[in-house]
Amino acid sequence: MKLVAQRIRGMQDALPNEGKKWLEVLSAAMNEAKLYGFKYIRTPVLEQTELFNRSAGDTSDIVNKEMYTFKDRGGRDVCLRPEGTAGVMRAALENGLHSKPLPLKLMYHSSCYRYEKPQQGRYREFFQFGLEILGSSSESSDAQLICAGYNIIKKLGIRDVKLSINSIGCSECRAKYVEALKSYLKVHANKLCKTCTERFDRNTLRILDCKESNCKSIINHAPIITSFLCEKCFKSFSILKSHLDSLEIVYEIDPGIVRGLDYYNGTVFEFLTEFSGAPTAICGGGRYDGLSQTLGGPPLPAVGFGFGMERVLAIMKQQGIELLSKSEPLIYIASMDFESSLKAEKLCEDLRRASVYAESDIFSRSLKSQMKYADKIGAAYTIVIGSEEMKSGKSLMKEMKNGIEFEIPLNSSFVKEVLKHIN
Ligand code: AMP
Repeated sequence: MKLVAQRIRGMQDALPNEGKKWLEVLSAAMNEAKLYGFKYIRTPVLEQTELFNRSAGDTSDIVNKEMYTFKDRGGRDVCLRPEGTAGVMRAALENGLHSKPLPLKLMYHSSCYRYEKPQQGRYREFFQFGLEILGSSSESSDAQLICAGYNIIKKLGIRDVKLSINSIGCSECRAKYVEALKSYLKVHANKLCKTCTERFDRNTLRILDCKESNCKSIINHAPIITSFLCEKCFKSFSILKSHLDSLEIVYEIDPGIVRGLDYYNGTVFEFLTEFSGAPTAICGGGRYDGLSQTLGGPPLPAVGFGFGMERVLAIMKQQGIELLSKSEPLIYIASMDFESSLKAEKLCEDLRRASVYAESDIFSRSLKSQMKYADKIGAAYTIVIGSEEMKSGKSLMKEMKNGIEFEIPLNSSFVKEVLKHIN
């Protein structure tokens, strides 16, 4: 088959089987977030390019090489959002949400676009489920957010997850650290990979993220940021650790976590697990106290994280984690002629109105093909209606797994009787 258009490289279709898992993961995450008072927010996929130039920073990889930017028909510079946080902050500020009682707890599920090299677990369109707490600079909000992430992972049944935390301090501690890091790296400059050489001047911290073995062994002996924290940042990081200890959240301090975007400060963290043989972040986040002001808003400290939905699903698959909830039993009502097909259609509709999953024939198929189809789509129960059943006003409902049959009236008690047998 030669279609006139194909799927674009790096983009994925979520086919029905995947889609079902997707909805389950999303609803489990949302339900968990609701327990903390997070409210759903949706922002446009298209934003002014300036939003990300300012927020992520024009030295970040995202802004430099990965954004889908273009001019719209009105000549405006727009882009597909590469991440969820900046749009949420813009929307909160633009709509005055920050004048409501604080903290503001927001959750989102957004498609994001980055022109990266597509590979296993890395796509050009991917989805993030994220939580943001706006308006609080307290370490307890960092701890609460980390707990929410931890509980979502637990709810999904994902095993062997490690929480790594770090503090990248305030702009002053970071400036001192970057200087020290640069002096150290200068000595090894000729051994750094091409990407790290490019990053040396414009985004030195990102060198700490490099996965190349040569760079990794250089980084292993580099000065660590936590030794450069000012008194305030050091104290804040210790308070966060006390919160996590008291909440019995196990963590590891990893001075290598810096996150790739300019807007982070203070606490940064990642939940990591083994995926395709390498430790992979399924969720990453941190504090971004300066973002509001960077966008022209008032001081509004904030902390947030984003889960990569595709990675969560791929890891669940790798760990053999099955669907979380069992699916609704399907009732298939077969019919034998036009008259009985109208009845089947109406009874199906009655069942759906009572929240029961039901199907009937829409192709005028023979009874034999209807039963074959019912089997293929996994009907748990079948009911056949023909002229005899129409006359007697009753039929038999058959439980497919064991062949047991129940008599069912085809009148106003139909739904009640069906419910009695399937529950
Ligand atoms: P980041 O905004 O880069 O910290 O990403 C947050 C989360 O989104 C990561 O932990 C990944 O799970 C996921 N993610 C980031 N980039 C991609 C991508 N290109 N494809 C799929 N998932 C991604």
